Amino acid sequence: MNKITNHLPTAELQALDAAHHMHPFTANAELAAKGARVIKSASGVWLTDSDGNRYLDAMAGLWCVNLGYGRHELAEVAAAQMRELPYYNTFFQTTHVPAIALAERLAELAPGDLNHVFFAAGGSEANDTNIRLVRTYWAAQGKPEKQVIISRKNAYHGSSMGSASLGGMTYMHEQGAMPIPGIVHIDQPHWWAEGGDMSPEEFGIARARQLAEKIDEIGEDKVAAFIAEPIQGAGGVIVPPDSYWPEVKRILAERDILFIADEVICGFGRTGNWFGSQTLDLQPDIMTIAKGLSSGYQPIGGSIVSDRVAEGLSRTEFNHGYTYSGHPVASAVALENLRILDEEGIVERVGTDTAPYLAERWATLAEHPLVGEARICGMMGSLALTPDKAARAPFAKVGEAGMAVREACFANGLVMRAVGDRMIISPPLIISRDEIDLLIARATMALDDGQAELSRRGML
Ligand SMILES: *Cc1c(COP(=O)(O)O)cnc(C)c1O
Repeated sequence: MNKITNHLPTAELQALDAAHHMHPFTANAELAAKGARVIKSASGVWLTDSDGNRYLDAMAGLWCVNLGYGRHELAEVAAAQMRELPYYNTFFQTTHVPAIALAERLAELAPGDLNHVFFAAGGSEANDTNIRLVRTYWAAQGKPEKQVIISRKNAYHGSSMGSASLGGMTYMHEQGAMPIPGIVHIDQPHWWAEGGDMSPEEFGIARARQLAEKIDEIGEDKVAAFIAEPIQGAGGVIVPPDSYWPEVKRILAERDILFIADEVICGFGRTGNWFGSQTLDLQPDIMTIAKGLSSGYQPIGGSIVSDRVAEGLSRTEFNHGYTYSGHPVASAVALENLRILDEEGIVERVGTDTAPYLAERWATLAEHPLVGEARICGMMGSLALTPDKAARAPFAKVGEAGMAVREACFANGLVMRAVGDRMIISPPLIISRDEIDLLIARATMALDDGQAELSRRGML
């Protein structure tokens, strides 16, 4: 059997990696000089690298390992499904049990009349589906001019041409001529950085009203949809002011455009309910799902679509699909993941116990001199690093402070991510109270070390 093993010393693995492996979102020459950290194994919330160092993974991989690492049930289900039916497509009037069972379960879990699932292999693919789906839906209603999709600056919706165009990351748009036509962006509800002298509540309303203004400017008859993450994840875990979503909801209720909630991070327990739309009381027509759907054990995503939209599309042949739409192994693993999240009461425990506890502990970090604000919703949190708390001032050169604290996190056995100068967490949902205490203790040490380092550099 050709078993993949970690038999080489770290330096040799790093050299091979540098020679042949191109990393996502990475300047590869810089990484090659330094050597990538080789992660070897994981269990629960803990990662082990090739030198035997252990890290508390406060990012759940890339926001996805909701169930934590090392659940053998998922491996068993994958192996059994591979033996029974490793692959078949769902294109030409065929189907299979794993896709049927997963679609049914998702329809059961999803709020309202979101009862129909179009599968993809991840979030980017699912959002590309959504672009074509909403435009095709309106064309099928005799309104082919309803094409424009409104999104938000600093949103993240994926990395393919379509999904990155939906996203509001200008540094992505600059590479490869994006956004594609028919996608426009309004401002994000990021009070700490952009709220100026307004109260958070006033600012939330103002940012929501940009949606109404944009729809009116373009013309309601030309707008297909509004897409948003209930809480922006990769943008820096931006928890909007309480006034924001109710006002957006009011605006959407008065206008005939579709609402796509990108639940790729917020879904599957992350905010303390099955979906972020439940936590924030939203009524989407379509939800994008991926990541926590399989806890990252298999690549799978999709779009959960309302009765109205599915019905409106049902007489049109939608010329769209992926080889791996509804992949049987990925579907079986996702289903098992959902079973465990449910039967072990993990989503419920997040909502009623561990997330409130984490919120209480996370709030104490706001007292640290380097921290301008500490925000959290469920199991996703952020810290704004600042040289001047009172002024809500950013650092002169964005990203350096975040990188220094991130390095200090690794040195203290903790994985937190830096988005510019925001430190963010999204731990596995199975994290215990004791592990939360450890997370906070290590984050505090990393902030102390980061502060000392920034002082040395004369940045404070
Ligand atoms: C990660 C992410 C995506 C993209 O998912 P991929 O599986 O990486 O393609 C889309 N939307 C949101 C909100 C995400 O966080």
